[in-house]
Amino acid sequence: MKIPNSIVDGISIHYISDSNDQMKREYKIETVAVVWDAEKCQHSGNCARGLPRVFRPKAKPWIQVDHATEQEIIDQVAKCPSGALSIRFLTE
Ligand code: SF4
Repeated sequence: MKIPNSIVDGISIHYISDSNDQMKREYKIETVAVVWDAEKCQHSGNCARGLPRVFRPKAKPWIQVDHATEQEIIDQVAKCPSGALSIRFLTE
């Protein structure tokens, strides 16, 4: 099933599949995209506790990349214990 990409509150959400065909979502603004792999997420809540302005499990989209600086987001993504979160830098 193909899920359409969307834009919610200015955040572009892309649904991508990796080589194992696992579904990932990518939340992007101008310079950076946060990639979230639902299959790997352990729901530890580290991201929501560490940077609650961005990682908001009850909001849509749940990752709001425009609510912090790029460096704050990069630092928090690095603390994800499962590797479910990663960063992709956007180049033109
Ligand atoms: S820190 Fe990583 S594993 Fe924990 S809830 Fe966030 S995305 Fe999931």
